[in-house]
Amino acid sequence: MSTLSIFNPANGQLVNTLPTDDAASVADKATAARAAQAAWAATPLATRKSCIEKFRASVVQDMDALALTMTRETGKPVQLSRNELNGLLGRIDFFLTQVDGCLATETVMSEGGMTEQIEHIPLGVVANISAWNYPWFVGCNVILPALLAGNAVLYKPSEYATNTGLAIARLLHQAGVPQDVMVCLVGGGEVGQALLQQRIDGVFFTGSVATGARIAQAVGNRFIKLQLELGGKDPTYVCDDANPENAAESLADGAMYNTGQSCCSVERIYVHEKIYDAFVARFVATVNGMKSGDTESADTYIGPITRAPQIAVLEAQVADALAKGAKLLTGGKRGPTPGNWFSPTVLVNVNHSMELMREESFGPIIGIQKVSSDAQAVQLMNDTRYGLTAGIYTPDQARAQRLLAQVNAGTVYWNCCDRVSPRLPWSGHGDSGLGLTMSREGISTFTRPKAWHLRSA
Ligand code: NDP
Repeated sequence: MSTLSIFNPANGQLVNTLPTDDAASVADKATAARAAQAAWAATPLATRKSCIEKFRASVVQDMDALALTMTRETGKPVQLSRNELNGLLGRIDFFLTQVDGCLATETVMSEGGMTEQIEHIPLGVVANISAWNYPWFVGCNVILPALLAGNAVLYKPSEYATNTGLAIARLLHQAGVPQDVMVCLVGGGEVGQALLQQRIDGVFFTGSVATGARIAQAVGNRFIKLQLELGGKDPTYVCDDANPENAAESLADGAMYNTGQSCCSVERIYVHEKIYDAFVARFVATVNGMKSGDTESADTYIGPITRAPQIAVLEAQVADALAKGAKLLTGGKRGPTPGNWFSPTVLVNVNHSMELMREESFGPIIGIQKVSSDAQAVQLMNDTRYGLTAGIYTPDQARAQRLLAQVNAGTVYWNCCDRVSPRLPWSGHGDSGLGLTMSREGISTFTRPKAWHLRSA
């Protein structure tokens, strides 16, 4: 039997070893999910909601242990793990309050004995393949609305967040969701590949562009729903009328939170030349004040890099930038071993010939580029294949809205960054993805409309 060993990225210690799924067990579980889905869809919505309410209560009750589980397998500092679990509660509440309205059958015409209705039926059996960086968020953004809408879910968490994936499934089972309706598959990319071979009605993926492209190819000729939440190279522009110190503190958090391993981390900063020096000085001071170290200590902010190979990507981006004329103001090197550490890094004198300003870094590293006009800033913000988020810092709302209207991104921010709301759709333009989660549409996306033409006589 093959196994998956999970190591703590903070210190390299073995956390645990799990038996993995294989092609045969994935097929068996997919068949069982198919058989169980109709009964789950026929279960009253109130009962399905009550399962999710119980799940929410378990998350609250077990929060400390769940946070530690996530911290030990991903390296996320424990205060950030708690933040994620607390943030999840608001998402659950949103889904619970909105789902009735999203699933209610709509009568769109009724006259002369003829009635037209739209029913919102579940897709059926859906696959959720997801990332490790916010495993509760990216897992539950799909699992919870999918279950509420009456689907069965085959969930393949990242191999770097498998204990958390198993905890999500266990708490849902304890809350009353049948074992075959919520299935967590254990293993790496090959288990994800096996899952895509099954008879499924939708694939909801969160992860890198490269894997997203492989998944799109794998299901391309199957005519099933495909959603891809992929990477980004999210820009922010700080205008000449912004407060440079306030903007620097806010954006240092946006760039370094979760050790820069967020899909919507601030990855490129453009600062107007008038306030550039003051901004950079405060930015570097803020980054240098961030506490790194023991991930289980409540005041640690910077953790390790979850996936060891990413350190080489960060090193290569720094080397490429320096070779092309960038200046390193802090960081830029590996931290102590054991563990996957990389020091928070700030580079200036950067430009778009550098990988640092073009390709997702997914780590605690940022390039800050000086600009001389709004037009130049907008041109640079749009000079990317991605389009997840973008932001502007200025006290002038009209200016921010005028500029952000020209920026190609699924989410735009005025005087804030790295923010996700359950009430708003989360979607990417360009290579940042396809489809959406969250908002009411993020519930409806797990349904398909069925049109009813009803003549009374
Ligand atoms: P990966 O693309 O490496 O992996 C994502 C998932 O796909 C994992 O569960 C992985 O399994 C699985 N997988 C890998 N290969 C295959 C395959 N051939 N077929 C099926 N499944 C496969 O991404 P990461 O987990 O490293 O996540 C980081 C990326 O996710 C970043 O690019 C980030 O921007 C993006 N992201 C996007 C978000 C968004 O909302 N737009 C949110 C969060 C992250 P395993 O890991 O076990 O190999």
